[in-house]
Amino acid sequence: MKLLLLSIVLVNSLLSFDYKLQPKEVSKNIYCFFGLPEVMDKRNNGNMANSCFVNMGTSYLVIDSGPTFQYATQAYEKMKKIKNLPVSYVVNTHVHDDHWLGNCFYKTQNSKIIGSAAFKELPKLSVTRMQRRISAEAFHGTTQEFPTIFVDKEKIFDINAKTVDIKSVNHKAHTNSDLFIYIPSENVVFAGDLVFNERVPSLRDGDIDGWLQALREIKKMDVKYIIGGHGDVVGKNAVNFTYNYLFELRAQVKKLLDAGEDIGDVVNDVVMPKYKNVPFYDSIHKQNVEHVYRTLEWEDE
Ligand SMILES: [Zn+2]
Repeated sequence: MKLLLLSIVLVNSLLSFDYKLQPKEVSKNIYCFFGLPEVMDKRNNGNMANSCFVNMGTSYLVIDSGPTFQYATQAYEKMKKIKNLPVSYVVNTHVHDDHWLGNCFYKTQNSKIIGSAAFKELPKLSVTRMQRRISAEAFHGTTQEFPTIFVDKEKIFDINAKTVDIKSVNHKAHTNSDLFIYIPSENVVFAGDLVFNERVPSLRDGDIDGWLQALREIKKMDVKYIIGGHGDVVGKNAVNFTYNYLFELRAQVKKLLDAGEDIGDVVNDVVMPKYKNVPFYDSIHKQNVEHVYRTLEWEDE
């Protein structure tokens, strides 16, 4: 019997990973687990995106559920120590899997899961990107659970008399379907990956002009806190890093394109020294330049 118990404990510990999550207080009712400024790998096991909890009175609203079942389980354990409330709703800001693979945990809690309309068409993969890149122990228990409530344009509802306004960006921005969440009583906008800090954003699935347009809309909002999908800058100025990078990137590419430079030269010539020491500059910036060149070239035709 002892041996059996020992082997169960052993197997369980082999199939688990302690994320050592620490909630950070943004305001009285808002806590976030801020992800590391890294790519997903076998050391961080996907702890590189933000997951936030809002105390809505008698339940939590969760913004993005994290990368795995175990991450979400551990995050909620930590939140219960702050206040033991159920999770009534989870919102997935967009389809990138570092933001929603934790849904499978919240499903066991009977939370309602809301997501962007793009989830309707999202195929269930045999192996997700996250699963390929992190350890089997950390991924253990994770299944792909999609939202069951979708936001096409806007969804406004109340939780305990507090209004939640989920707006869909109705054009391509960070992805082809991004949500941002405005909670007036908490003076906050959760911007998902429309807002990055401490790392160079990737345009791979996005559109430069659509993204800038969405950020201008968020900049106009009269709130105290803007919380992005990556990075722990949470004031009104949180938008500036992504906005300025994309704005300067577009201007520089446009200038060289108009001067007749071809794509190979532009990719090498658009260097932005200000961002050189920001994580992912070396791996992503050139791809972004190429992406913007192709978009603007096409627009010019
Ligand atoms: Zn993303």
